[in-house]
Amino acid sequence: MKQRLIIDMDDVMADATGQFIDTYEKEFGVRVARESLNGKTEGAGWPHPQEVLYQFTFRPQFFRTMRVNEGAQEVVRQLNEKYSVFIVSSAMEFPNSLREKLDWLKEHFPFLHWKQFVFCGSKSIVHGDYMIDDLPHNLDTFGGRRLLFTAPHNMQFTQYERLNNWREVGALLL
Ligand SMILES: [Mg+2]
Repeated sequence: MKQRLIIDMDDVMADATGQFIDTYEKEFGVRVARESLNGKTEGAGWPHPQEVLYQFTFRPQFFRTMRVNEGAQEVVRQLNEKYSVFIVSSAMEFPNSLREKLDWLKEHFPFLHWKQFVFCGSKSIVHGDYMIDDLPHNLDTFGGRRLLFTAPHNMQFTQYERLNNWREVGALLL
């Protein structure tokens, strides 16, 4: 039986940080440098308080138009041959994101079946052999091998095995 691999969407498959940077620039005319967010918790490090950033996530198209992180499509395609892959996203926090995330996955990862998509609340319900996620609190409750995908807001964490990009994911798991 294939091993089960759990993969997160925002800031793992999709460039959520880039979407915040682009949206912020359109709104306020200031382009925040990605590096300036390094080591700061999610939503921190911006000129405006994080509530302002949080509001972006309720806008139509916010999740639908995210860019795909470099290398994600090709590596996930190969992982999908070797593992039992599930895409798991805590989408319940943003109800409008459910349809947008589904459409985004169908567009950019057409080789995955809808049965491989899990939109949930808490990820503590999830079991598997490997989990790739950018948020340590999602990895905390996972019983398998925990893999932290590098994002600006997790640079300060050292308790988990780190993967900096999709090339490193492929090197470890393929
Ligand atoms: Mg994420």
